[in-house]
Amino acid sequence: MEGLPELRQSRGAGLDLAHPFSSSSAALQWDNRSLACLARGKEYQNRANPVAIPCPQCGRQYDITLFQFGRTIHCTCGRRVGLEKRLGPPDSVDQPRFIADAMLGRVARWLRTLGYDTDYDQEITDSELVRRAISEGRHILTRDRSLPEEWRIDGYLVLSAEDTLEQLSEVVSAFKLRPPSRLFDRCRMCNEMLEPVSREEVASAIPKRVLEREAEFRRCPGCERTYWEGSHTARMRAVLGRIF
Ligand SMILES: [Zn+2]
Ligand SMILES: [Zn+2]
Repeated sequence: MEGLPELRQSRGAGLDLAHPFSSSSAALQWDNRSLACLARGKEYQNRANPVAIPCPQCGRQYDITLFQFGRTIHCTCGRRVGLEKRLGPPDSVDQPRFIADAMLGRVARWLRTLGYDTDYDQEITDSELVRRAISEGRHILTRDRSLPEEWRIDGYLVLSAEDTLEQLSEVVSAFKLRPPSRLFDRCRMCNEMLEPVSREEVASAIPKRVLEREAEFRRCPGCERTYWEGSHTARMRAVLGRIF
């Protein structure tokens, strides 16, 4: 049995056997969409009772809670077992939202610069990445080719380029992103929407020559960084001109 929990052993309180969400964790609260996906499965009968997912090769049964957020497991017979239905972000979102894996911090900052809501946490685990993607309707950007195999997820993109700007190009073409009308609607560092601030409000925080030259300033309500048009913005636009 190799320690993989079967249905009869995970009955009752034993939800935290081999999957990353403990039964006491808030993470176990499935969002309604994930539950609805599962509820359409033919095995789903009663939430009070464990629901079994059989291995298609040997028939061994596994508790459905092991497959939360589309996780798959290896059956003791060697076959990978998971839900048939793939989970992913809704198609109806006007502007795609993203979550980048731990290796893609630079791409995440570029996407934020372009105005795209992009979650990024350099310490994130795979299970948390997938959980957030599904519950917040985000497309996963990853360098990890095995991720879509380990999780039955949809709407992800595996980036093959090594270079940051080539990776950004991959995202732009896969999601048909259009060039933004302006840069810096969103903080590069923490993904918050920037707010306009007056010259007086930023006077103490930025160099005097910038204060004299620039007319418009914006500030991040999260980290309080101040943003303005400048030579760095011109360089970024030049780089983006090669991508769009
Ligand atoms: Zn099996
Ligand atoms: Zn910020």
